Amino acid sequence: MSEQHVPQAEFGICGGSGSLSFDFPAGLDDPRVTILATGLKFDTPFGSSPSFTHFSVDGPHGVRHALAVRMHGWRRGVKRGDASLQTFWVFHEAGVRKVLADGGVGSLNHLLDPRDIMIPNDFIDLTVKQDIYVRGDHLLIMRQPVCPDLAASLHSGASEHFDRVYRRGTYLVTDGPRFESIAEVDYMRRLGGDVIGQSFAPEVFLARDIGACYGGVYIVVNYGEGVVKEWEHDEMKSVFFDEAETIARVVLETVSTADLGADCGCAELRKPSLLPIDDERPAQERPTPAGGKE
Ligand SMILES: [Zn+2]
Repeated sequence: MSEQHVPQAEFGICGGSGSLSFDFPAGLDDPRVTILATGLKFDTPFGSSPSFTHFSVDGPHGVRHALAVRMHGWRRGVKRGDASLQTFWVFHEAGVRKVLADGGVGSLNHLLDPRDIMIPNDFIDLTVKQDIYVRGDHLLIMRQPVCPDLAASLHSGASEHFDRVYRRGTYLVTDGPRFESIAEVDYMRRLGGDVIGQSFAPEVFLARDIGACYGGVYIVVNYGEGVVKEWEHDEMKSVFFDEAETIARVVLETVSTADLGADCGCAELRKPSLLPIDDERPAQERPTPAGGKE
């Protein structure tokens, strides 16, 4: 049970390192944006949530609402898997239908350079987080993990600002927070990853668990160890600080313009479990069956 009523929102935004150095969305100073509340925290069955900003965007489809969290909801002292569960529990209660994320990533594919943009369409999850679900009552099919409609919207927005924007690629997810060794990167390249980072999962499958579409835009901030050449800390810093506003703008544009009723097929990739298991969570800790829509 939340202490505060979770406001309704069509969009949930997992801000990441791509936009962390920027005050999203207030810093955009966009006249279409209205900040409705900041510092919103909710009690969830997984612990106290991270802090959310609730805002609206007045766009071509009318007024839309979003709940945004910074840096995937990660905080020191909270396991990252728990932070993701708290975040997506709130998104579910808010009735979120589209989840957008951003982040900085390392390269595994030697064709990539810093400041290239990747909109991954697939992923490999090497994290060891366990029992990651908010609802847990559906079979989550990962044939098309990323929403093609959200990806197209992010691609179109990013292409206005960046020279090289890739619409296909595999995001390899590690636990972090450390970077990888040369041998690990070599192994991960051979697994088929194009970029490497520490978010994307569980976000991508928690979005499906709550019945929402997922799309993310990621900026390459460094070469993976042993790929192309040694990466430079100063360059990483300049990507984080120079490009955060642009990444934030691309995300906001997708909130404003994405088709909420797109025939994207994501909903068909979540089927009621054929073999349901007992739910021993107390009633008050179970999510509202249809999120905030009930
Ligand atoms: Zn979709």
